[in-house]
Amino acid sequence: MKTQRHTADYYINGLLEGDKFVLSKSITIIESSLLNDVDLSIQILNGVSGRSGSSKRIGITGVPGVGKSTFIETFGNYLISKGNKVAVLAIDPTSSMSGGSILGDKTRMNDLSRNANAFIRPSPTKKTLGGVSNNTRENILLCEAAGYDTVIVETVGVGQSETLVKGMVDFFLLLMLPGAGDDLQGIKKGIMEMADGIVINKADGDNIGTSKQAKLNYQSALHLFAPSESGWIPQVMMCSSIHKIGIEDVWQMILNHRDLLIGNGDLKKMRTAQNVDWFQEQVSRTLVARIFENKEYVKLRNQLEQSVLSEDLNPKEALSLMLNKIFPR
Ligand code: GDP
Repeated sequence: MKTQRHTADYYINGLLEGDKFVLSKSITIIESSLLNDVDLSIQILNGVSGRSGSSKRIGITGVPGVGKSTFIETFGNYLISKGNKVAVLAIDPTSSMSGGSILGDKTRMNDLSRNANAFIRPSPTKKTLGGVSNNTRENILLCEAAGYDTVIVETVGVGQSETLVKGMVDFFLLLMLPGAGDDLQGIKKGIMEMADGIVINKADGDNIGTSKQAKLNYQSALHLFAPSESGWIPQVMMCSSIHKIGIEDVWQMILNHRDLLIGNGDLKKMRTAQNVDWFQEQVSRTLVARIFENKEYVKLRNQLEQSVLSEDLNPKEALSLMLNKIFPR
């Protein structure tokens, strides 16, 4: 079946008008691996490049059950009440593997998804040779072009996609539960180290005491990490997403961080560095994918594999033959 597509101008104009339907369709094109779609997505991204880049990009992570969707719903509604337009891109590492998904199984962010000033979209990840990949970075640009001034990227916090997300946002927020130590929460030290802010969610009712204790624990844990080059000191806060307490403080923290990074020029530097990283990552991934698609290469690799199996060649010899073939001297 042929996929129905419009001209690049249709998508570009629709995006610039803030049309959610066109935004959704454009994301589908960005996520497609059809060659024609790859060309079309480049045209669309070029067409809107003047309008993207201006949003606050916030990464939010935390283990399943910590309250990410409840927090994002409350936080998103709060931001909209302040006049913002909020897009939520949820990276779901499970959806591509099992067909099911951690993020998609339940109805999430019901209220927010119905709001005219919100846009919510899961971003499935693909298992590639280089690890986990997806098109969230490009999707952020599309959301910005469509007028969303705050883009939230959500991940499940089990360690796969967090580095990916850290490399595409301005502020990385880690949600934690009251009480339990970090090892109990399955959060790796590396993820804590990436956080610009830690928010202990569910700080309500009987949890208040344990939340305060957790706050002290995380504050002292953060002291062990080297300070960031920008001079930002990661903050630890408490909030209740259900009772809508502490939400404004979280936003203020993000704005303070932003002011600091704009003031000292680091936001621009960080985004440029993120672009370079993205380029390098894409180059490696694309080159490896191209080589693996090449029939001659696959044939040669299979032959050499057989030789290693039959012990006619040792692995190093096989590798050297392969490299000589690909890069003849
Ligand atoms: P996610 O898996 O991280 O997206 O977590 P959910 O947002 O689905 O929340 C998991 C459970 O925690 C749900 O039963 C929520 O009602 C509950 N929850 C979320 N935020 C709060 C909160 O601030 N306080 C309390 N007491 N419960 C919360």
